[in-house]
Amino acid sequence: MLEGTEVTAKDQEYAIEAHGVHKFYGTTEALAGLDLQVRANSIFTLLGPNGAGKTTFLKTILGLVRFQRGDIRVFGKLTLELESRAQVGYLPERFYFYPYYTVLDTVTFFMALNGVHKKSSSEMIEKTLELVGMNALSKRRLSTLSKGQLQRVGVAALLVGEKKLLLLDEPFSGLDPLGTKDFKELIHKLKVAEGKTIFINSHGLAEMEKIADDFAIIDKGKCLAQNSMKSLLPGVTLEDFFTTTIRGKN
Ligand code: ATP
Repeated sequence: MLEGTEVTAKDQEYAIEAHGVHKFYGTTEALAGLDLQVRANSIFTLLGPNGAGKTTFLKTILGLVRFQRGDIRVFGKLTLELESRAQVGYLPERFYFYPYYTVLDTVTFFMALNGVHKKSSSEMIEKTLELVGMNALSKRRLSTLSKGQLQRVGVAALLVGEKKLLLLDEPFSGLDPLGTKDFKELIHKLKVAEGKTIFINSHGLAEMEKIADDFAIIDKGKCLAQNSMKSLLPGVTLEDFFTTTIRGKN
């Protein structure tokens, strides 16, 4: 399946399509024929117990680890192609950058790094900082920011890089309830106002239930369930469904 790279109308509906992905670290099979689809312009969450293969899958999308079999397409293009990876932005659990850079320096740096040279670059930066709620703090050094504020800078860095697919790794870990609420609103805005696809790796089932459109549950490198949040039966929480799914397979 690796040779066909033609984009079809169906491909365009998905931000990510993974088929039969196998990844071995030595003799450990981290991904055991993983199949997964993520709709474009949706909020998707990948759930699974420790060691299920979530981080490995995220790394394969980014091209950071090679997999042995299967294929992964991003907006219809195989991840082997640079063009596909250029559309993907990654926000780690903790966004780190030079602590002595200001918010503005950082965002400007990422804009240039991604080869985005717009005549109206200062306008774009201002609009982005406004969107992530960091305009008032644009002259502050990163070393003086809280975790939640740093994450917003990280999101701004992805936005000025014009990434269409945003991979967020445990975005709520370490945020206080207010920070969590604000960040959830920002994620929603990224989908609705900016047309982004947001893929979230998380253990926070309660948070995910509130903001994600779709979810997949993986364990031992295999997809056990993939559904829309709306498909959960009345009275069944995501945590209930997750527990039943994982216990049922072990
Ligand atoms: P967690 O929720 O704990 O972060 P995860 O779902 O992200 O877990 P992965 O980190 O993808 O899981 O790990 C999947 C499997 O692959 C585990 O068995 C892990 O021990 C193994 N693994 C991950 N990275 C490596 C590596 N670099 N070398 C060897 N084995 C690895």
